Amino acid sequence: MTKYASFYQRSIEDRDGFWAEQADLIDWQVKPSQICDYSKPPFAHWFVGGTTNLCHNAVDRHLKDRADQPALIYVSTETGQEITYSFAQLCDEVQRMAAILQSLGVKQGDRVLIYMPMIAEAAFAMLACVRIGAIHSVVFGGFASHSLATRIDDASPVLIISADAGSRGGKVVPYKPLLDEAISLSQHKPSAVLMVDRGLSAFTSVPGLDYAYAELRQQHMNAKVACVWLDSAHPSYTLYTSGTTGKPKGVQRDTGGYTVALAASMQHIFEGQAGQVYFSTSDIGWVVGHSYIIYGPLLAGMATLMYEGLPTRPHGGVWWELVEKYKVTHMFSAPTAVRVLKKQDPALLSAYDISSLKALYLAGEPLDEPTAQWIADGLGKPIIDNYWQTETGWPILTVANGVQKMPSKFGSPGVPMYGFNVKLLSDSTGEELTGAQEKGVVVIEGPLPPGCLQTLWGDDERFVKTYWQSVPGKLVYSTFDWGVRDEDGYFYILGRTDDVINVAGHRLGTREIEESISSHPNVAEVAVVGVADALKGQVAMAFVVAKDTSALGDANARLKLEGEIMKLVDSQLGAVARPSRVLFLSLLPKTRSGKLLRRAIQAVCEKRDPGDLTTIDDPTPLQQIKQQLDV
Ligand code: ATP
Ligand code: MG
Repeated sequence: MTKYASFYQRSIEDRDGFWAEQADLIDWQVKPSQICDYSKPPFAHWFVGGTTNLCHNAVDRHLKDRADQPALIYVSTETGQEITYSFAQLCDEVQRMAAILQSLGVKQGDRVLIYMPMIAEAAFAMLACVRIGAIHSVVFGGFASHSLATRIDDASPVLIISADAGSRGGKVVPYKPLLDEAISLSQHKPSAVLMVDRGLSAFTSVPGLDYAYAELRQQHMNAKVACVWLDSAHPSYTLYTSGTTGKPKGVQRDTGGYTVALAASMQHIFEGQAGQVYFSTSDIGWVVGHSYIIYGPLLAGMATLMYEGLPTRPHGGVWWELVEKYKVTHMFSAPTAVRVLKKQDPALLSAYDISSLKALYLAGEPLDEPTAQWIADGLGKPIIDNYWQTETGWPILTVANGVQKMPSKFGSPGVPMYGFNVKLLSDSTGEELTGAQEKGVVVIEGPLPPGCLQTLWGDDERFVKTYWQSVPGKLVYSTFDWGVRDEDGYFYILGRTDDVINVAGHRLGTREIEESISSHPNVAEVAVVGVADALKGQVAMAFVVAKDTSALGDANARLKLEGEIMKLVDSQLGAVARPSRVLFLSLLPKTRSGKLLRRAIQAVCEKRDPGDLTTIDDPTPLQQIKQQLDV
């Protein structure tokens, strides 16, 4: 048995022994008396009786050894601001913020909604909340009033922390009017709003409700606010899923389990060491931002680089310039960002000294082989895919290079991570599939490991119904993703279970067709969606963003490329997988987090109402689809 295989096996078979060891990676005020209480499945209670604090482990714990080392490196190419906070400085800022929260009436267990751009104060706010046991709920700054209002009602925060504005591509995006509008729309009203004024967009304060951060910070300049020792099960935060497939769910996370899970992942998966620099290009509004911009790197004593800006501004090599400048060792991004870079000059990838960089981790959506190969060749660094969900908080599938070096296989995120008892089930019979190349639903046997969601905020019933009751007669957690395993135990994610299409009795993951189409040299990006068809039940339709669009104004050129793409799918997957149409778009319809809005595409193709589009980044491609299909 390989080293990783036995590590993994122990995590499943000697669960409590395994996690008791991992628990030693963090500081506890009181050590847990029991590792996992799974007496009320599917609710798992990790590290029973233990008390700890996430902020203590992320910040204060490091003061002894590295008070003056960088903790938070803040870079904005939108405002030109660039500041490095040492652990000691970060600790001071967090205590000031914690004192402000207390002065505004925030108590342990209260919710604080954070609606902020990528500014250092957002990190202070998150850390200050967990320091005093307030539950933060970060709402992505790109969301408009309606989305924000539904989240205010769900989280019912005592306090909202916001800023005058964000900035995107040099354009100021005012937040305050959106926030005011959201508060007027919501049923729940916060008792206070704390405003960080960046001086980007003038706003009017609401008397009696709004407080100015700069003023209060001045008042609490020398504040000392101790970390509150919290029960392991005390919620650290709630976070809404992207809502790609429907109404967002308020994922609730504990304190002890999450702290242990992240500390363990920093060691076993990311091989992070104190003093190194972690640069995640995500946003604090998403789960990657929580786990690997804020908490994970800091828990490991690393500096985290927090970036506001685009990957292409002021130039397409800006990320690599930052890697050189700050000697970044670990980078975490998403395939969608790599596809943006792919449209730039590849020479930019080698224009800077990136010798400090050990690996680039990518997650959030399927990483197709050509994209992985392109960035691997361009950077000359390992590219490591990892598959997880807002719900799990850390990777389900990847390679644990910190345990044993394992090759990544492009197209596959990797193997199950320790603690995740991953299985494939037949979606027709619910039987477990153990053979290679058998396609099924990716599920996880309970208990979910530490760090995963405890429940959905305020809705235990929805938690059980949504995730644990999709396979009749079996209590397993469904990821709602469709996958397959190869002979070496590497998994391939074939798409969401909703996206499996059934053409003439053949079950096909849209991902397989996308993979095939993206191997065409003129395809920059592709989405394949199953669309209802009166004759065949369902057909696949492909939406392609071409690399070279110069000829595509001409109908014949479009037809030619469409024909080539169809032939390619025929030869690789067989005629049954061939898309019925290939449409060319200038970009794909995505959420602000870069996830494809398949449901919306499908709805437009089927002449239905695309539903709530508040999370869409740019509606142009949906209009392009409408025009081309003449619907
Ligand atoms: P919602 O659940 O609200 O519809 P969402 O599922 O898009 O939103 P996230 O939790 O951000 O919200 O995304 C997790 C999903 O993203 C996974 O279930 C999977 O479909 C996809 N995903 C994430 N990482 C990968 C990866 N490395 N490879 C393939 N798919 C991935
Ligand atoms: Mg999901």
